Amino acid sequence: MTRMAVLSEIIEAKRESFTALSDELWAKAEVAFTERQSAELLCGALEQEGFRVERQVAGLETGFVGSYGSGHPVIAILGEFDALPGLSQKAGLARPEPIAEGGNGHGCGHNLLGSGALAAAVAVKDYMQRTGLKGTVRYYGCPAEEYGSGKAYMARAGLFDDADLALSWHPYTAALVQNLSSLANYAVKFKFTGRSAHAAASPHLGRSALDAVELMNVGVNYLREHMIPEARVHYAITDSGGASPNVVQAYAEVSYLIRAPKQHQVTELYSRVYDIAKGAALMTGTSVETEFEGAAGSLIPNRKLAEVMHANLTAAGIPDYDAEDWRYAEAIRATLSPEDIQAALYGMDPRTALRLKDKAIADEVIPLYPVEPVMPGSTDVGDVSWVVPTAQCMTACWALGTALHTWQTVAQGTLPLAHKGMLQAAKTIAGTAIEALENPAVIAEAKTEHRERLQGQAYMPLIPEGQMPPRR
Ligand SMILES: [Zn+2]
Repeated sequence: MTRMAVLSEIIEAKRESFTALSDELWAKAEVAFTERQSAELLCGALEQEGFRVERQVAGLETGFVGSYGSGHPVIAILGEFDALPGLSQKAGLARPEPIAEGGNGHGCGHNLLGSGALAAAVAVKDYMQRTGLKGTVRYYGCPAEEYGSGKAYMARAGLFDDADLALSWHPYTAALVQNLSSLANYAVKFKFTGRSAHAAASPHLGRSALDAVELMNVGVNYLREHMIPEARVHYAITDSGGASPNVVQAYAEVSYLIRAPKQHQVTELYSRVYDIAKGAALMTGTSVETEFEGAAGSLIPNRKLAEVMHANLTAAGIPDYDAEDWRYAEAIRATLSPEDIQAALYGMDPRTALRLKDKAIADEVIPLYPVEPVMPGSTDVGDVSWVVPTAQCMTACWALGTALHTWQTVAQGTLPLAHKGMLQAAKTIAGTAIEALENPAVIAEAKTEHRERLQGQAYMPLIPEGQMPPRR
């Protein structure tokens, strides 16, 4: 029996419990830093499988680590489980219909992510028990990926320092290994305070915080021409100072997200944005304060690990999709735009993209990217990848072209297609972990490459010193 056949058998034997766990997480749909019930569900499942669980790690109320085994090698498997606000949606429909208006929903599939990563950790443990293989497997319960960068706090606290490699995955619309980089980011709120006044009777006595927010945004929009093209800056006015035009707004705030390929580029861009905020405050006679919201490092890819993971993804194979999977995927596809579908083919070689473009389910394993692209987004897995060689795969859990953070992802989150993709990812991660435990050259080569890529740069958390995770 091959390694993958053994792992498949282990995972399939517990299929019902993993899919039920994922569906329970989907139903809880707790957002960043409030995932108390979800974390407890995962902790309970780990303990039942014989893992030692440490709760509330790194100052995170909903962060935890479950361990099995002892000594090196230490395999870190990362699980996320936070939902998104405003994406409540009934399962199994092909039209938007919330369960609760304005409620939360698993619009990024982190219910699958959390349970699938746990399935992988359990399979590694079971395989170690069967074969006597030595080492440690850890499940990192990583909260607040969508907002707040839970893993960055965990990395800063040194929780990955003794890990030999880190593995994870993300639900997607195709099966691939993410040998790519991502943008580092910094999220910060600018809070302006002025003085209120009657806007008609005594405007000269007022100092408008809303004016400051507007001038800051105008200033930043002029900055765009003079920043590197790969950088991204976006903002949302989170408090405009009230609904009455007849009152000079005494308080207003704007939330900024600043992204660039390298940490130092983000830091430099942030200081320029901050200067603009100070300028806006000076112009309007208001004062400005900042509030840190989150930060993530760029992703350091690892070719060696990606190749091993790709071989395991290929060995895990494409699940059997039945007529019902195809029928529902077609129904979802009918709700997508051609642009959505085009975006799902991002980075693929043209031949693969051509084969897949008219299919509702991407039923093949996508080859590794020949040239590592920089994904125009961010992930807090970035921080982990600075500390330890890291690899991530994706699998087809949704109809091809389904965009993240939409009602369609929530609607598909508990269906057989999603479960099949989740277990395919679990097998892939477990296979990669076992290969690394059995063959010391995998970890050695991945570490050498990691050192070469960092070229002596140390991991520098973007989280300000002394900053602790928020309590919600
Ligand atoms: Zn996500």
